[in-house]
Amino acid sequence: MGGRVFGSEEVVIIAGPCAVESEEMLWEIAVRIKEAGAALLRGGAYKPRTSPYSFQGLGEQGLKVLARVGKALDMPVVTEVVDTGDVETVAAYADVLQVGARNMQNYSLLKKLGTIDKPVILKRGISATVEEWLMAAEYILLAGNEQVVLCERGIRTYEPWTRNTLDLSAVALVKHLSHLPVIADPSHATGLAHLVGPMARAAVAAGVDGLMVEVHIAPERALSDGAQSLTPDQFGHLVREVDLLAGLMGRRVR
Ligand code: PEP
Ligand code: MN
Repeated sequence: MGGRVFGSEEVVIIAGPCAVESEEMLWEIAVRIKEAGAALLRGGAYKPRTSPYSFQGLGEQGLKVLARVGKALDMPVVTEVVDTGDVETVAAYADVLQVGARNMQNYSLLKKLGTIDKPVILKRGISATVEEWLMAAEYILLAGNEQVVLCERGIRTYEPWTRNTLDLSAVALVKHLSHLPVIADPSHATGLAHLVGPMARAAVAAGVDGLMVEVHIAPERALSDGAQSLTPDQFGHLVREVDLLAGLMGRRVR
């Protein structure tokens, strides 16, 4: 994973677009976020969209683009695997595999991910309890893969202003209950770009081992999740603030 370790004094930042849209676009974003301090590059190739009519991702073509850009910039890449049948293909291109919120309790997918030798980011299900989240992680661990990273990405509550509600008490609780590294995704947790910075800072104050942040060159033209995507400039600002805050806690971004 390029020397990056979740669960160290470093706050590991994963950034990139919601979806891989094109090689040119991904390259532009990746150069900017690397410069700003992102350690890993994210981008979805298989998108689990709420509507089947929305952009579904570029599939294997997207994985190839992601792997090429990551390699050229020496950034490990993170991408979601949606289907059990795609685990081998995704693992061939990605350095870290992500299980999305909608698949947290897809036990056949979790068991299959237990057989690979790559880190797995397990996002918390949209209405999963902490117990259910930790037990989902156990499926991967029990099947033989100990490299599991938990990701709090907001849970569904009665509040419609934000896309989800970032549960930071769960971050502190899971840090207490489990040895696994925990990261937060303030982008999906809020759905609103202007809330991503404040919630990223709050997550660092709560003790996360890393952050996952969506960044796009032109959020207004993004094929998915534009409203919650930061511009590279906004992302640079977020990283500087997070780094200052991490410093107060004896930690650092880079
Ligand atoms: C994503 O990371 O783009 C994503 C789909 O996240 P989640 O599974 O948390 O909704
Ligand atoms: Mn997204």
